[in-house]
Amino acid sequence: MLRYFFPLLLVFSFLCSSADAREGMWLPLLIEKFNIEEMHQKGYKLTAEDIYSINSASMKDGVVIFGGGCSGGVISDKGLLLTNHHCAYSLIQSHSTVEEDYLTHGFVAQDYSEEMVNPNLSVTFLKYMEEVTDYIFKGVDDDMSEAVRDSVISENSRSLERSVTEDTHYDASVESFYFGNSYYLFVYEEFNDVRMVAVPPSSIGKFGGDTDNWVWPRHSGDFAFFRIYADKDNNPARYSVDNVPYRPAYSFPISISGVNEGDFTMLMGYPGSTFSYSTSHHIEMLTQYVYPVLIDMRSLKLDVMNYYMDSDDKVRIAYAAKNSSVSNAWKRWQGEINGLERFEVINKKSSFERDFDRWVEEEPDKRVAYKGLTDGFEQLYSDYKEVYLARLWFLEVIGRNGIETLRTAAFFDRLAAAYSVDEPDNTFIEGEKERIEELLNTHFKDFYLPIDTAIAYKLFSGADTLFTDEIYEPLDNIFSIYSETGEPGEFFKEMFNSTPFSDAGTALDYLHSFDGDAASDYRSKPEVLLYNAMRDVYNNVISPVNVRNTQKLDSLKRLYIDGIKKFVTDEKIYPDANFTMRLSYGSAGGYTPSDAVWYNYYTTGKGVLEKYRTGDPDYYIDQRLIDLLESGDFGRYGNEKGELPVCFVATNHTSGGNSGSVVINHNGEIVGINFDRAWDGVMSDLYFSDKICRNISVDIRYILYILDEYMDADYIIDELDIKM
Ligand code: ASP
Repeated sequence: MLRYFFPLLLVFSFLCSSADAREGMWLPLLIEKFNIEEMHQKGYKLTAEDIYSINSASMKDGVVIFGGGCSGGVISDKGLLLTNHHCAYSLIQSHSTVEEDYLTHGFVAQDYSEEMVNPNLSVTFLKYMEEVTDYIFKGVDDDMSEAVRDSVISENSRSLERSVTEDTHYDASVESFYFGNSYYLFVYEEFNDVRMVAVPPSSIGKFGGDTDNWVWPRHSGDFAFFRIYADKDNNPARYSVDNVPYRPAYSFPISISGVNEGDFTMLMGYPGSTFSYSTSHHIEMLTQYVYPVLIDMRSLKLDVMNYYMDSDDKVRIAYAAKNSSVSNAWKRWQGEINGLERFEVINKKSSFERDFDRWVEEEPDKRVAYKGLTDGFEQLYSDYKEVYLARLWFLEVIGRNGIETLRTAAFFDRLAAAYSVDEPDNTFIEGEKERIEELLNTHFKDFYLPIDTAIAYKLFSGADTLFTDEIYEPLDNIFSIYSETGEPGEFFKEMFNSTPFSDAGTALDYLHSFDGDAASDYRSKPEVLLYNAMRDVYNNVISPVNVRNTQKLDSLKRLYIDGIKKFVTDEKIYPDANFTMRLSYGSAGGYTPSDAVWYNYYTTGKGVLEKYRTGDPDYYIDQRLIDLLESGDFGRYGNEKGELPVCFVATNHTSGGNSGSVVINHNGEIVGINFDRAWDGVMSDLYFSDKICRNISVDIRYILYILDEYMDADYIIDELDIKM
């Protein structure tokens, strides 16, 4: 027995759990099996069936995917929805102009007719989930190559998805868990008429700006209200004036009785991806090789954007959402490096791997199944890291938030191809021109050429030293067209001097006059040459290596997690997040970020004023809010000390995608809404420690106070089920 003492101790610190916190994002279907007992011990008063049930309305029916990557919760029987201001940011931006600037002033509808339509927004409800591993594994055997295995699994998945959604308006998706050791089916219902009801000004919703992003103590009122509409039969429908507020199966009650230190809290939402079982090699690659390069790339993008945004209001609005999106991961990567180094995670993971190897050596069966696994990871990461970085580097250049002129040029690719055949198809060409016109109009609404130019000039500096010739030479060849030295600067000078994608007018003229001659000229444009060269390297060099390595990695991870489950026999192992509905639970509580420093678990209106008085523009608030906060009269929204609670932290394990998740107390009532994690523990996607990992939520009392007193939104308050 003594023999196991040391390894298991390490296992528990690696898969961390403690008296107050339960690491993990759990599947609602499995709460009864894995968690309910512990949740009750921690203070939860309801049942697992109250969380997830297919027989009656349960909390899962009040939780949604909001847009492409956030969560939200239904809070009234008329389809009212609570999510984050930052999740709605690009929608608010799309409704804003310099004259009607909802980013700056906020927005409140006074009745249904004023609620704003969002053509590209959807919310999605989970109808049910089910384990389908046996079905998905039909026809799979151990001797198959990873590629064949993938195709059998994918075929089984598609056929199951088709069969369960046939003759319904539902969507289905089969998702892999534990790196392909288990599969679950998820059936969803999507609503497309979702209207904006109320959002605070950014000085409240984004209070603290990038200075405070990923930071505790925090004072942001990061909330937004939307409403789901349905047809008269309560079914999803495209926008129509005849649509009516959706009647949900479940809506969350709200509690203003507050959260005390140590109180049970849980949240439900859609965390995107975590890497809890990554080996030391993965962490080493990220922190020492990949993140530093990506951080530099984003630093320069942000410097350029900030410079131009500070000097022009129109540019500020146009680039607000892009800036936030670039800055978000930029800051998180830095926080992850800090946390992982501080907690010596590479060492902890290596020693876990050595213990695992020793355990494997103990019996022949284990040796047959798992021997050589950790060496396999080491070898793979060392072969793979250059391409791993190259893939991300290329996406930083030609992906979303990359050099936009390159992407705009690529809009014309299919159109140019349509002219290169003997008998061009005019119907296709017309349709394509319409499509491109739409893309150009959307793109140029938020585009400022000097920003794109400055970013392009800087992004390539030093890139030639990062990659092999196979990856970089094709780009070098393009750069050499305009200068003997192959200077990217010379190339971009020519490109930006001659591009028709500089502004909406020139680009639309170019589109409207596009014909066979333009099509042959198109292919020799510098922006097209560079985009195509990068796309070809990405598709032909980077992607195949990436696919091969990902497959190898998947099979190693599948085996590794299977082994870990046996190694850590009495520990519950949660599956990594994969943007399926999860529940996390823990408790409200402060923490020590560094020696002799203690952070309280909640912030108050007093802190908003203190930050405002520093004069930092990220902490600007208007006179109306100053007066309200100084009044000290917070009515039913104040706590027993007469303070106005603003945000609180808890030990719930969350990730990107959990933004907008409703935070619930022991009675299943909303006490807050999750929006961020604290800097010191932001590495929780890779390593969770309840000593320091905290999710940050806006206290529901602050939200209601702002709605009631600052935004005069009685229309919304009257609709809510508020418990004292
Ligand atoms: N801010 C994140 C989100 O947008 C939440 C997090 O990463 O903790 O989903």
